[in-house]
Amino acid sequence: MSLLNKLLSFIENIFIYHILRLWGLSILYILRFFSYKSESTKKYLDDNTLNDIPKKKGIFHPQNKEHIIRLIKVARSNHATIRVVGSGHSVWEAIYAQNDNCIHIILGGDFKKIHSIDISSNGNFALVNVGAGCHLGRDPNDKESSFENSFNFQVDQKGYALPILGGMSHQTIAGFLQTSSSGGSLKHGIADVLEEIEIINGKGETVILNKKTNEDKFNASVVSMGLFGIITRVTFNLPKKYSVEGTEINKEFKDSLLVNDKGHYQKLHDALKNNEYFHMNWFPQKYVQRTSQWNGKLVSPDLPKKPYKHLLKEKFMNVLAALALRISNLTDILIGGNFAQRIIGLVLRTFVRIRNPVHFRDLWFKVLPNDDQADVDRLMKTSYTEIWFPLEKIDEVMNTLERLFRRKPSYAGTFAIELYGAKNSPYWMSPSYKRDVFRVNPYWWGRNLGDPYEFFEEFWKVLLPIDGARLHWGKYLPKPGEIYGEHIFGIYYLRHCYPKLNNWLDIREEMDPDQIFVTYYWRRVFDIRKNI
Ligand SMILES: Cc1cc2nc3c(=O)[nH]c(=O)nc-3n(C[C@H](O)[C@H](O)[C@H](O)COP(=O)(O)OP(=O)(O)OC[C@H]3O[C@@H](n4cnc5c(N)ncnc54)[C@H](O)[C@@H]3O)c2cc1C
Repeated sequence: MSLLNKLLSFIENIFIYHILRLWGLSILYILRFFSYKSESTKKYLDDNTLNDIPKKKGIFHPQNKEHIIRLIKVARSNHATIRVVGSGHSVWEAIYAQNDNCIHIILGGDFKKIHSIDISSNGNFALVNVGAGCHLGRDPNDKESSFENSFNFQVDQKGYALPILGGMSHQTIAGFLQTSSSGGSLKHGIADVLEEIEIINGKGETVILNKKTNEDKFNASVVSMGLFGIITRVTFNLPKKYSVEGTEINKEFKDSLLVNDKGHYQKLHDALKNNEYFHMNWFPQKYVQRTSQWNGKLVSPDLPKKPYKHLLKEKFMNVLAALALRISNLTDILIGGNFAQRIIGLVLRTFVRIRNPVHFRDLWFKVLPNDDQADVDRLMKTSYTEIWFPLEKIDEVMNTLERLFRRKPSYAGTFAIELYGAKNSPYWMSPSYKRDVFRVNPYWWGRNLGDPYEFFEEFWKVLLPIDGARLHWGKYLPKPGEIYGEHIFGIYYLRHCYPKLNNWLDIREEMDPDQIFVTYYWRRVFDIRKNI
């Protein structure tokens, strides 16, 4: 065989091996997906003592506290795991039990309702007591969820508002709190308005935790990933409603806030600091190099409205976007190299077009969760890993990412990376505990061929060694035991990141001595040893 032939067959082998491997990984990924079970174990579904509690698709829907206490009692006496599903937007393992002895619940009845709204004497605030299973906005996956019974709509009708929301508002109140979800703002956080939570712990006791009178336990429990108990009620002290006025604009990288001055990303830093609400999608692919920037500020709700319109508001546009992502993903896999980057550039640039800025002004709950208008639960379903850094690490983070994409352009992926911030939080396990943060949120389109872990790994490898990095609890986490820089992801690393972790684990044990809320996934992350 000539040298040329040998070379060609070598290249062919690598090429075929690479594609087979990706197909293999995709099949494994799909199989893993189908192996996920959300049903409770059959013996509990058939249990006579539980048969008055409504069930749907193998999940209990307790309507009141007595139902929950009974479910906890049964779980406790059978050494079963009991987990609450919010709107199911976190990674599967963060929510469900991974064993065959489990009870899964979705809060129903009273837990989806607002119980009281007490307006302060000057009318400036409203103390709102609400069931923890109430959705913030409308959840398209829940047939009973509507715009009218959403938390946001109801409090807005009374003239009050939450100061912040995430990029979409399908979440339940407890689900949002438990993973420390946050909107893009250094000025507003959910902790500004959260007053009290009611939680039923692993002993079946109702515990009411107030921000002032039970400061430590409250700050430990708000972000606890379902590991402390079942949150049943929440009380907010809400300010008056407002509108958000802002602009969405796409820019070439060279004209964007990401341009640095000798390695300093001052413009990005200032945008995070000075805008009341800000987030940006960065398309770092070699031949895309564009950004889509969204910023807003709080204004009077009486000003005339100019509704926000998402590029993916129409179904047709979601289909086109999905097609573009499919083409980009296949091109990356089948062709690879610079030619693939050129095609990806061509395809994605048609979506991130340079056009006139779009201005909007509308009520807070219609504008802040701007991705509510896109089909984020189906065609545009996306997986994420999200890393939060102290704000002052912005230069190091951005330089690291730019170096990564220069070294290997395909690591830029075929979608976007969201860059935004979050206000410092008093909650012990919040990734923004005691510091304002800059967040990096790489997107992996849910229908891509390949394994999101492999994609996210590249980010973890370069970003987790940066001091102060912490991960979003509801998104992809590295596997415990994996090494990143000088750290092994797991309990030692987390202790280093979260100064109150030991105290948090002590309170966890006190709240749930029989470990009925502990799953295999969280046991490994926090090294929670089984009771002997
Ligand atoms: C399209 C999309 C957009 C997103 N945008 C943002 C964003 O802008 N900012 C951000 O920070 N995050 C964002 N996220 C992440 C999302 O906010 C979190 O995953 C959030 O936890 C989801 O809430 P949920 O109601 O779906 O809860 P789930 O995902 O169902 O549950 C989350 C955790 O809370 C626990 N839990 C739920 N209810 C209770 C309860 N009553 N008592 C005790 N434990 C409970 C669950 O067991 C689980 O551990 C986004 C996710 C998606 C898919």
